[in-house]
Amino acid sequence: MDYSEKTIEMAQIIAENCTSCKRCMKDCLFLQTYCEDPQKMFHRFLEEGLEPIIPYSCMLCGRCTVVCPLKLKLDEAFLAMRQDLIKEGLPLKQLKSVEMHQKLSTSKVFSAVNRGDMK
Ligand code: SF4
Ligand code: SF4
Repeated sequence: MDYSEKTIEMAQIIAENCTSCKRCMKDCLFLQTYCEDPQKMFHRFLEEGLEPIIPYSCMLCGRCTVVCPLKLKLDEAFLAMRQDLIKEGLPLKQLKSVEMHQKLSTSKVFSAVNRGDMK
C-alpha cells in the first residue's frame, strides 16, 4: 500500500511530537481499543502501515485535537489514510463476499418476480 506524501507527513508530525500523555484517549473508545498511545500507533503506521479497519474506525469527531496540548490532528491523519486506501479500492477489496452478495441479490436470476403470467 502506497500512502501519499501528505498522509506520511501528517503521521510523522504526530509520531515525532506526541508525548504519549494519553489525554486524547480518555474519552475516545476508538483509541482505547486500537492503540497503546498515538505516538506508538503512528510510528507503527510509518514502519508497517495499519490495518484498514483502524483509520475507518475513527469517527473524525476532532475531540482529540481539542484536548491535545499540542493540537495534534489525529482525525485529519486518519481521514488522509482513508482517502489513500479508497483510491486503492480498500477496504472494499477485502470484502469480496459482500460484493458477491450484492451482485447476486440484485441479479435477475435471484430477483425474478412472479407476475402471475407464467404458464
Ligand atoms: S477524531 Fe477519532 S481519534 Fe479523535 S477523538 Fe474522535 S474518534 Fe477519537
Ligand atoms: S493528547 Fe496529543 S500529545 Fe497527548 S497522547 Fe494524545 S496526541 Fe499525543
